[in-house]
Amino acid sequence: MEQAGRAIRLGLVGIGKIARDQHLPALAADKRFELVATASRHATVDGVIAHREIGSLIGGGHDLDAISLCTPPEGRYAQAVAAIDAGLHVMLEKPPAATISEIAALADRARAKGVTLFASWHSREAAGVAPARDWLRGKRIDAVRITWKEDIRRWHPGQDWILAPGGFGVFDPGINALSITTAILPDAVLLESAWMEVPEGRAGPLVAELRMRSGTAPVEASFDFLQTGPQTWDIEVDTDAGRLRLSMGGSILQLPGGEEQKAPDQEYPRLYARFAELVTAGESDVDIRPFQLVADAFVLAERRIGAPFAF
Ligand code: NAP
Repeated sequence: MEQAGRAIRLGLVGIGKIARDQHLPALAADKRFELVATASRHATVDGVIAHREIGSLIGGGHDLDAISLCTPPEGRYAQAVAAIDAGLHVMLEKPPAATISEIAALADRARAKGVTLFASWHSREAAGVAPARDWLRGKRIDAVRITWKEDIRRWHPGQDWILAPGGFGVFDPGINALSITTAILPDAVLLESAWMEVPEGRAGPLVAELRMRSGTAPVEASFDFLQTGPQTWDIEVDTDAGRLRLSMGGSILQLPGGEEQKAPDQEYPRLYARFAELVTAGESDVDIRPFQLVADAFVLAERRIGAPFAF
């Protein structure tokens, strides 16, 4: 377990796209962490001790303090249980688990064991999100429109797991929009109705629309995983003081009458800073509201079967 003054000795699990694009650079730049070893069935990181699976990573004599899980959500529960039971702090990629019951059980288990559990939502760390939340405070919210449209073949090439059971389909990116929406709106967001289109032979939807409500304001979300050309990750909020617009996944904020506000992408450095703070404070951060909305959509949505999909 961690000792005062030394870096948090971390094992990184699931060396795929997000681990390489974001976790490795963020860890390399943060002195509060030391990447000690990895676990991945096929992949390795140059210069870092590699294991094939989390069991041998945890049992490998590395004197670990923490595990960060970058595997797909299906299967993450067992990995998190192994880490928590070994007394390690755990950071989870989004979505935090394959089911609501799993993440609730993990939160209980971490509490009982006295370790930190951090269910991360990287989009909440986008530059515009905190100022948007602050600006909206005290304003009347009249309507919210979420447009989250990206090309699955461009951003998730060959990731068959994303359309398999537990892969979330278009809600894998869509949950990012919901993580921002639940963070910036003062009132609870509730799902009223939804439809989704699932390609023949797959489990996860490629297209979905959600009609929600926050206080008296309608909140509409349009998710599309087949968007070619310009990619759209926008949230617009109409208020009694004009329209707030978050674009590019929350990184650009436009307030009524103002210039666009943007700042360099610091989402993953901020996530690891938050994880370090939580570990130091002996606290956890597990907000399941974005996940609940997705689970509600899977319960309530009208299903349509679409054309078969191939990467
Ligand atoms: P990915 O490229 O498929 O990487 C995940 C890695 O986990 C795989 O390379 C694989 O490495 C390992 N793995 C373990 N069990 C697996 C299984 N049953 N099926 C597939 N891979 C398995 O996926 P990713 O894009 O990095 O996404 C991982 C998580 O990060 C997801 O929850 C996703 O929502 C989140 N995320 C992704 C992005 C993004 O832009 N891609 C952005 C933010 C968050 P081995 O084969 O070596 O075991």
